[in-house]
Amino acid sequence: IRKIAVLTSGGDAPGMNAAIRAVVRACAYYHISCVGIFRGFQGMIEGDFKELGPRDVKYIVSKGGTILKTARSEEFKTEAGRKQAYKNITEAEIDALIVIGGDGSFTGALQFSKEFSFPVIGIPGTIDNDINGTSHTIGFDTALNTIIDAVDKIRDTATSHKRLFFIEVMGRDVGHIALNAGIGAGAEEILIPEENIGLPKLLEKLKKSKLSGKSSCIVIVAEGDKTGRNVFELSEYVEENLPEYDVRVSVLGHLQRGGSPSCFDRVLASRLGVKAVESILENKSGIMIGLINDQMAETKLEKAIKGEAPIDEELIRISEILSI
Ligand code: ATP
Repeated sequence: IRKIAVLTSGGDAPGMNAAIRAVVRACAYYHISCVGIFRGFQGMIEGDFKELGPRDVKYIVSKGGTILKTARSEEFKTEAGRKQAYKNITEAEIDALIVIGGDGSFTGALQFSKEFSFPVIGIPGTIDNDINGTSHTIGFDTALNTIIDAVDKIRDTATSHKRLFFIEVMGRDVGHIALNAGIGAGAEEILIPEENIGLPKLLEKLKKSKLSGKSSCIVIVAEGDKTGRNVFELSEYVEENLPEYDVRVSVLGHLQRGGSPSCFDRVLASRLGVKAVESILENKSGIMIGLINDQMAETKLEKAIKGEAPIDEELIRISEILSI
């Protein structure tokens, strides 16, 4: 192995830069060349490459987003697109590829690796935490901190006006963000895709909350919650049925992806980046490096992308106890 390439793909996540830095510097440490591929798989198809040395990644450990940019590439889903990418990779004399991204990116990476017998290692980078084989994905912790900071602020105004707030957070298919941020911010209710509490029960719980003397109420709603209503429809529904509540809605949106990564994400990304390079040097391929019980762990890419990482039932139980 003389040259390793690294790319970021899919949704950006805070901490991706720390992972890029770790890959670049580990390569330098082991006397291997490192190439950054810009705009994910699309940049691989277009040959958008740049050699990166240790000084090229200075000051990025603290920056959100990704200096390599990211993209969603439809072309990479075609055989012709992947063939072109392989041609560029071989012409640039790249021996192995590190892909920082989510399950879609790993699916593409695995396909590429199998088609051309090319060494590929995955690093989980997505705020959703929906990857098997790691307790945390890069960006998850930062997103949670960003969200609780926002919810704390909303709580101030909610309390002052005795209002009920529906706050939408990211999570189309999984409720990890909603559940953890909900507990962290002391939400009265948390609506996640994994569990449908049903509208009547929601009303009943909100009624109970009001009667218990609470002066504000926060309901965290994952994008893909199963009530079948979005936050605005939920708000109307509750206003119609519980006129005692003054209801407002806040959609946190893309601010959840941004910002300087937390220390946890920086350390996680640094560990995963170094380990990914070392795994390539040990001739490993087709695996993702993750964190299990605070140790670096390898999981086959097939397994990492198989279904969503299950929600922590214990956390659901805790949230129910605490919303009394
Ligand atoms: P996030 O979870 O943050 O959205 P992701 O990695 O899951 O990140 P996707 O948009 O699903 O993001 O995938 C990123 C890219 O991976 C796609 O744009 C595409 O180029 C590639 N990809 C996804 N699925 C496949 C596939 N079946 N075959 C080849 N490439 C794929």
